Amino acid sequence: MGAVTTFLDLEPGYYALTDPYDPGIVLAIRIRAASQRPVFTQYGKCTEGVSRKRGQDWFALVFAAIARDTAATRALFVEITGKCYVCGRKLTDPNSKARGIGPDCWAALGGGQ
Ligand SMILES: [Zn+2]
Repeated sequence: MGAVTTFLDLEPGYYALTDPYDPGIVLAIRIRAASQRPVFTQYGKCTEGVSRKRGQDWFALVFAAIARDTAATRALFVEITGKCYVCGRKLTDPNSKARGIGPDCWAALGGGQ
């Protein structure tokens, strides 16, 4: 039996994915430092008839999806928000948009020009 993925297994930053229960909803998730709870933002319209009950299983699916495909979930966050996936600030120049990371975060990660 594999261990359940929790937000504590994820790197702080911003991610987005389609709601595992509702294909009409895209979720942006901010993973914060240490034991602070993640912040969820919902985009789109709830599909009629789909249960919005979010229990432990739902959270496990969301966090497992992020852990499994970190790059894609970061890229989707950048695509839908136009923000840096590290700090959540608005991306302005074309290089930053292409990377998905603003200049300060990029430098902090050791990136060059
Ligand atoms: Zn940033």
